[in-house]
Amino acid sequence: MPVKSHQHPVIIKASQCRKLCSCGGKHPAPGVTLYAAADAAEVLAADYLALHGGRELLLISDPLTHEVAGARVLAALRAQGVVVDHLLLGDEPSATEELAESVRARALGRELIVAVGAGTVNDLAKYAADRNGMLYWTVPTAPSMNGFTSSISAVKVKGVKLTVPAAPPQRIYADPQIICDAPLKLRQAGFCDVLAKVVSDIDWRIDSLLFDGGYCRLPTSLLSGVEESYSGHPEQIGRGEPAAVMGLFHGLLVSGVAMSLAGSSAPASGGEHLVSHFWDMREPLTGRVPELHGLQVGAGIILSTACYARLAELDGRTLAGRGAAAFDATAARIPGIWGDYADEVARQFIGKRDQLLRFDTLLPLHWPELVPLFRQVRSPEYFLDLFRRTGLDFSLASLRLSADEFLLAARNGRAIRTRITVLDLAAHAGVLDTAAEQTLAMLS
Ligand SMILES: [Zn+2]
Ligand SMILES: [Zn+2]
Repeated sequence: MPVKSHQHPVIIKASQCRKLCSCGGKHPAPGVTLYAAADAAEVLAADYLALHGGRELLLISDPLTHEVAGARVLAALRAQGVVVDHLLLGDEPSATEELAESVRARALGRELIVAVGAGTVNDLAKYAADRNGMLYWTVPTAPSMNGFTSSISAVKVKGVKLTVPAAPPQRIYADPQIICDAPLKLRQAGFCDVLAKVVSDIDWRIDSLLFDGGYCRLPTSLLSGVEESYSGHPEQIGRGEPAAVMGLFHGLLVSGVAMSLAGSSAPASGGEHLVSHFWDMREPLTGRVPELHGLQVGAGIILSTACYARLAELDGRTLAGRGAAAFDATAARIPGIWGDYADEVARQFIGKRDQLLRFDTLLPLHWPELVPLFRQVRSPEYFLDLFRRTGLDFSLASLRLSADEFLLAARNGRAIRTRITVLDLAAHAGVLDTAAEQTLAMLS
């Protein structure tokens, strides 16, 4: 039975992808649709009934997301006669592999999963649906990260947070009032996460220029089409003004799709994300519960932009003959930082050793093309000002980070992934430590 009475536009159309692609590659657009209106819960229930009858689904929420949205979705589904298995997670749940596997097992045999929440609830549902080959829909409760539409799920395996491939949902149902009323800290986190793409896009262009040539303008072109609605409006996002917060929310949805369109060969994120992954991975060693993804990425943006500003001042001809020493210095610190996880980190870092050694010839050769890219990046002061104008502090204290832990990530975050980022360029050029000190001073 067709459901025709409501608009469910796809977030990114396939025709847009064809038009904006600059690499000639294939970018199959995930057909994620968005229904955004005050009656999102009731429309979800009616759509479900029309498409799947009353067959049993699994609804996942946590105590907070259930209060703000889940209870209404559950009531709407039951009012339609739909059989609902409701999994209410504990307070502040964490997406561990054990929990993700138990969600997956509980979802087996159900028609579909409905996730009500943001980060963790979405990660769990996406993981379970992907592993089971099931459909899943999501009801976002905050504009806090771009994972609603991305094709990765963050799951903690043996205490270490990893990102694993997992297909995005088919449908998103959002009540704009709930999105706008989300806690300010969550809105600030989403604002940082969406702005990361501005920086990581340059990381990708550099990697492409030096090595594989795989850069495509598509992801950035998609985002620049919506950027206006949020980037200049931090105060309005802070005050929860609907136009700006929904602009941010839409930017996050586009950003998640854009990341998945970039494909596996291209960086979905740059150096600014590595420091956040570093802190996530260090949790079993330090006991520090990670801050919101977007906020940690915000600190990474300040670091990356500080690196770019310093690189732009250098003479590329002086950058030969440094690769081996820069690699060895970072590699030597891995055992002390990572303990039991050192072998895995070392394996990642070794994976880009050849490319790092080739910096000796490639950087002097391509420096005249690289400098204009460095100069395209806005200053760290610009981004920090934007983050703070949302009305919340943005500092190491607000991120619950010590100066030592911050510097450790800034200097060594580049080792945890094989991808080439600005942190590698800065380490090679000898400006990473000073950029890290500058960032530390700005955030203290
Ligand atoms: Zn392309
Ligand atoms: Zn992110």
